[in-house]
Amino acid sequence: MSTAVPGTTPVREVSVFGDAIAYFNEAAALLNLDPGIKAILTHPSRQIIFSIPFQRDNGGIEVFTGYRVQYNFARGPAKGGIRFHPGVTLDEVTALAFWMTWKCAVVDLPFGGGKGGVTCDPSTLSMSEIERITRRYAAELVEVIGPDKDVPAPDVNTTPQHMAWIMDTYSMHVRQNTPGVVTGKPLEIGGSRGRVEATGRGVSIVALDEMARLGIDPKGARVIVQGFGNVGGIAAKMFQDAGCTIIGISDVTGAYVNTNGIDVAGAMAYAQEHHSLDGYRGGDKMSNQAMLEVECDVLVPAALEKVLNIDNAARVKTKLIVEGANGPTTPEADHIFAKSGIIVIPDIMANAGGVTVSYFEWVQDRQGYFWKEAEVNARLEEVLLDNFAVLREIAQSRGISYRTAAYMVAIDRVVKSLKLRGVYA
Ligand code: NAD
Repeated sequence: MSTAVPGTTPVREVSVFGDAIAYFNEAAALLNLDPGIKAILTHPSRQIIFSIPFQRDNGGIEVFTGYRVQYNFARGPAKGGIRFHPGVTLDEVTALAFWMTWKCAVVDLPFGGGKGGVTCDPSTLSMSEIERITRRYAAELVEVIGPDKDVPAPDVNTTPQHMAWIMDTYSMHVRQNTPGVVTGKPLEIGGSRGRVEATGRGVSIVALDEMARLGIDPKGARVIVQGFGNVGGIAAKMFQDAGCTIIGISDVTGAYVNTNGIDVAGAMAYAQEHHSLDGYRGGDKMSNQAMLEVECDVLVPAALEKVLNIDNAARVKTKLIVEGANGPTTPEADHIFAKSGIIVIPDIMANAGGVTVSYFEWVQDRQGYFWKEAEVNARLEEVLLDNFAVLREIAQSRGISYRTAAYMVAIDRVVKSLKLRGVYA
């Protein structure tokens, strides 16, 4: 049976949106949310589905499906990435837009939540085909995106290059150069310094702050990172720079464990040269699942959803889990961790560094004045630690998890904006 909120998502056996609502409900119960307000917050403001006809390089025409969900606008323009993946559905995009609403609010950015996607397998497409799909995607959305409406960004399988095409297509349609329509752009056309590293940097900033509270000395602390891409790779490097010993890394090809410590810079160079960690000799190879059960001080899932679940949660031996990925822990596993005293820093706080620097990029684009990298990094640290301190205070005073505290803070901020604006009916 689907657990989706009626009338919001297509019926599917397992609803990602339904799962996402479970965490919301826990916090909503503690906040005694008015049922009308709760109804507003559990329904997306706008879901757009459209066809993307495009020409293959061989002249043939194909049609893909595109989505953009603008979940909530109470605090500002919608904000969230665009995903190109065969698994993209309206249900998944809605869940991701829902998460973006809380992520932006938890770090107090003046944005609502959004997400988009195209159901396609980019590995079967040429770059020029991908460009045509991206431009058509942007053209279909010209009326509803914009710096004050909805500001997309990269997500799975989309890059600064895709953002450059969207910015160009939008600018051509509105007859005005508009860099603030998307973030995550290349530096040359209005991107921000520090944006590429921001999510991994943010993961390490909040993790090191929590380690200090827990009395875990970074010098020699054993850290395992699942996923060695933009988030995991950078986070691993930052942990190592702080003195931690990275005892496990992994990517889609498997996990590599070395209790004496992995040389992250060497592994990065290897992955760059070989396009993956396949064949990497700096650690003993094992499965991704097995690595998640290796004893460590800090575990950072930074690859996929639902990797910490009812099947393995009881065997996870760590003190602190820092969610670099979106949704890596199922609600069942979360309860097991709470019972066994494992602290979890939830995704909407732990990986909010990316959207925070996206906000800085949007601000810089609108000012036409660009900051030095040191300034971006200092402001990022300030935003993350200030807001993490708010969560900590609530979690400690009410005896609840960081996740519930994060949702409470985020929901409360959105509700305050919503109430001030009122319901236009
Ligand atoms: P990425 O594509 O750069 O890297 C993903 C990594 O995960 C790769 O190393 C890949 O090999 C690995 N991976 C893929 N399938 C795997 C599997 N089955 N088992 C183990 N590893 C696997 O992606 P990313 O940008 O680093 O994003 C990772 C996660 O972080 C996603 O959940 C994403 O939504 C989330 N996130 C990313 C950002 C960002 O700014 N990039 C911001 C917030 C959240």
